[in-house]
Amino acid sequence: MCGIVSAISTHRNVVPFLLEGLKRLEYRGYDSAGVAVINGRLNRIRSVGRVADLEISVSQGGLAGGIGIGHTRWATHGVPSERNAHPHVSGGVSVVHNGIIENHEEMRARLLGLGYVFASDTDTEVIAHLVHAKLREGAGLFDAVRRTTAELAGAYAIAVISDSDPAHLIVARNGAPLLLGLGEGENYAASDGAALAAVTRRLIYLEDGDCAEITREGVRVVDRRGDEAQRPVTPSRLTPESVELGSYCHYMQKEIF
Ligand code: GLU
Repeated sequence: MCGIVSAISTHRNVVPFLLEGLKRLEYRGYDSAGVAVINGRLNRIRSVGRVADLEISVSQGGLAGGIGIGHTRWATHGVPSERNAHPHVSGGVSVVHNGIIENHEEMRARLLGLGYVFASDTDTEVIAHLVHAKLREGAGLFDAVRRTTAELAGAYAIAVISDSDPAHLIVARNGAPLLLGLGEGENYAASDGAALAAVTRRLIYLEDGDCAEITREGVRVVDRRGDEAQRPVTPSRLTPESVELGSYCHYMQKEIF
């Protein structure tokens, strides 16, 4: 099971938070990792192996931005490799995905017909191109993601950003876990509360079919039918200490003890 972590902030570079969050999701297992941020334009760095390796590449690449998405991948479609690692991109759109898109072959054929070129063997890449295609038709980012998810079959949690709209981070889930976190001047989404324990204890658990628009100021959730959904804010029981590595060498070791 892979991990997603994402954030949008008024006042800081979210990259250190994304990397820290990915480390806290390492216990879920993964084969590669990556982050994408918008800082004027979309920038992305991916690597095979540990989040610690990604961290080195990120610091060498000087990656920084006030909105971003991060991912640890457990390959289901396409071998573990840098080109198959998430985030995937289409133009200025970038996507991380947890799960499996069952109708990806049909989508891929349609997108090839529209002139899209695939840079990976993953099922996930169709999501990036579908969102891009809908933006090109004039949809806003939230609508583009909602219309895309309406076409997907399978289980997914996704987080999407686009350099055409750096004020919005869009997430959606169906059959894979995803929750929102409410901060001060910044908001988040992640696969589980451990990734957010250092920054907030105010969590909103999304339900299947939900799509959420996350801004620096707040969040808005829409259900499968497109109606505004009031999901309760739930206090996290995790403290920053409970998810710290402490004296353990890695999170798996801590989990075992
Ligand atoms: N199916 C996607 C892939 O193979 C996502 C796998 C995951 O959940 O990490 O890239």
